[in-house]
Amino acid sequence: MRNSPNWPDPRAHILRHVPDAAVLYFSPDILQATVRRFQSGFDGLVTYAVKANPGEEILANLVAAGIGAFDVASPEEMRAVRRVCPTAVLHYNNPVRSPAEVAVAADMGVRSFSIDCLSELDKLSGTVAPDAEISVRLALPVGGAAYDFGAKFGAGPERATELLQAVAARGFTPSMTFHPGTQCADPAAWGAYIGTVAQVAEAAGVRLSRLNVGGGFAAHRVGPAPDLEAIFSHIRAEVTRVFGAEAPDLVCEPGRAMVAEALTMAVRVKALRACGAVFLNDGVYGGLTEIRDIGAPDRIAVMAPDGTPRTAAPCARVVFGPTCDSIDRLPDPLALPGDIQEGDYLLISGMGAYTQSLSTGFNGYGLSDVVTVARV
Ligand SMILES: *Cc1c(COP(=O)(O)O)cnc(C)c1O
Repeated sequence: MRNSPNWPDPRAHILRHVPDAAVLYFSPDILQATVRRFQSGFDGLVTYAVKANPGEEILANLVAAGIGAFDVASPEEMRAVRRVCPTAVLHYNNPVRSPAEVAVAADMGVRSFSIDCLSELDKLSGTVAPDAEISVRLALPVGGAAYDFGAKFGAGPERATELLQAVAARGFTPSMTFHPGTQCADPAAWGAYIGTVAQVAEAAGVRLSRLNVGGGFAAHRVGPAPDLEAIFSHIRAEVTRVFGAEAPDLVCEPGRAMVAEALTMAVRVKALRACGAVFLNDGVYGGLTEIRDIGAPDRIAVMAPDGTPRTAAPCARVVFGPTCDSIDRLPDPLALPGDIQEGDYLLISGMGAYTQSLSTGFNGYGLSDVVTVARV
């Protein structure tokens, strides 16, 4: 499925419809091109982390481009994937699960799980397939990401060694996984993990079936675009260097970097105050939630409703969202053109990840339907 685009680009849709609610514009071509970039550059199985954007049109285009396996965290994500692709392979890599969730996964034929603690292995034993793949999730204090995923999940090297031995002793297929943290642009973060994974496997005396190197690949938010190929080749070089002939098959599970570039968000200026503050029709309760946690993107073009670009020198402005809540404010001032006016549109590029999936309908705002375009 490609969703034949109704519009050449966001600008054409805005000129015709003058939308007053925030809109996401989706380019299936860009999503499919990103899939091809991962598939040709990453030397292993490319899966998709559904939480970054579980939209049906996103999942369908990923499947059309050849993605057949998905990282899911909940029964609802499993069902969302299977609705679009009944044969999809599901990797249930949320390492904390209720017994009821484990039972749903077993019913749905899930055969790949991650754990970071013995009690979670106990929950799986006896319910999931006896030879299911169980990946031990490693956590290290490495830098390079926007925030640290190791702070919540993952076992340190010593506990990971014990867990890996337990997985093998119980007859499961032993693998390992890690997540370097989201929006990570530093290949060395993967290298540090891969080196420790090899040490853990050696200490445990277990040959790994697969190594899942996580998501975390950076999207283009600020400055120059991140060099994904440099990360891919560093991963392959490090795996070859530390494992040699015993190298496990590789899996990756990008969320952000797979989907970010395929969607552009348009938000509108509702009001401009004399003090320079800007009120937008979306904010931290909607598609701009992540700005609070990882900072604002700098890929923002501003245009008048007739399509004229605003080009005056930027000045820093306080930005509020539309709800009646004083928390609904961007944490830092945003650099916006000095000639910005009420009714203008901000076109924010690279907004496909963690926008729809985090948007609430608080106060009656939030993101409207996705509009399909040829290019964003
Ligand atoms: C969130 C998550 C991902 C995707 O992370 P991105 O930073 O969006 O690439 C992959 N794997 C697991 C286990 C996750 O929790």
